[in-house]
Amino acid sequence: MIERFSRSGTLPAMHTDTLTPPDLTWQEEALCAQTGGDFFFPEPGSSVREAKRICGMCPIRATCLEYALTNDMRFGVWGGLSEKERLELRRTGRP
Ligand code: SF4
Repeated sequence: MIERFSRSGTLPAMHTDTLTPPDLTWQEEALCAQTGGDFFFPEPGSSVREAKRICGMCPIRATCLEYALTNDMRFGVWGGLSEKERLELRRTGRP
């Protein structure tokens, strides 16, 4: 059966042949890519204020937040929301 769907007949080959990679071109406009990831993945208990300020100016904020929620990104600031805020958004519909 696997041979029908893959060139080499291996399971990994089947996956690479059938899965469509996600379109991540929106990340090219990410402001955080220009500032570095330290603000966005701070040590536990550290402030996320600067990351949120940058997100507030980011042209792809909504797309970023949707990506984080869809892909269950557990760590860091995405789309202007911290981990706790995304969890709250999932739970109550409000950050
Ligand atoms: S919204 Fe924030 S985390 Fe998302 S791409 Fe923009 S700067 Fe980065």
